[in-house]
Amino acid sequence: MRTRLVVGNWKMQSTASAAEKLARKLATFKPVSSVDVAVCPGFLHLPLVAQILAKSCVELGGQDCATNPGLGALTGEISAHQLKDVGCRYVLIGHSERRLTIGESAGVIAKKFTAAVEAGLTPIVCVGETLEQRRQGMAVEVITGQLDATIKKLGVEGLGGAVVAYEPVWAIGTGVTASAEQAQEMHAAIRSVIVSASVSIGDNIQILYGGSVKATNAAELFSMPDIDGVLVGGAALDADEFLAICAG
Ligand code: PEP
Repeated sequence: MRTRLVVGNWKMQSTASAAEKLARKLATFKPVSSVDVAVCPGFLHLPLVAQILAKSCVELGGQDCATNPGLGALTGEISAHQLKDVGCRYVLIGHSERRLTIGESAGVIAKKFTAAVEAGLTPIVCVGETLEQRRQGMAVEVITGQLDATIKKLGVEGLGGAVVAYEPVWAIGTGVTASAEQAQEMHAAIRSVIVSASVSIGDNIQILYGGSVKATNAAELFSMPDIDGVLVGGAALDADEFLAICAG
């Protein structure tokens, strides 16, 4: 039985006071059903949010990490070890905004994934196709290639302690959500890629959907057999909306 997981990605959207206000509202969250909840604030606000959420059911994640796991001379980077040290359990790896806007390669993403595992974090590796790739019928090929890059580096065992987030690029921040059926089809394809390398890892890995998730479409997504949770961007900035998604 896979536990449901809801993760909020605050991106570069909050000031310290907005992050504080949001975290204070989330700190009161009491899950009614079995759901794990985490938020990924901006790096600058992690200590503040960690302090507010310390006694709550909401866990913490980083939005990215350096390719080197430990401390070291790498100006401007944040290591997985530093995220762990501040109280993170999770870290997002390979978000499409980093793949496409910052230009992170599959090799860099695989290194970050390794660094996260070495630091004891749970990597949430994001995969997803662009609209053009979907139109060309290449969606499954693209996400398979993105996953394979990680599997090649660490072996399928590397995915044992990880989470996968399927985030079609055309659905992120656009208000256009993949239908529950479209998302299920892709989640099933992702699971079968992993199952073909390891049945137990494939069966047990949590696969989240991300892309314009709101309280109004979360329940339908959750009803799909291979959708184990959601990664939420815009709607995670509104505490009531985010908590309604968590309540599922
Ligand atoms: C995201 O960026 O991970 C995301 C899913 O954003 P949104 O929910 O705003 O589409």
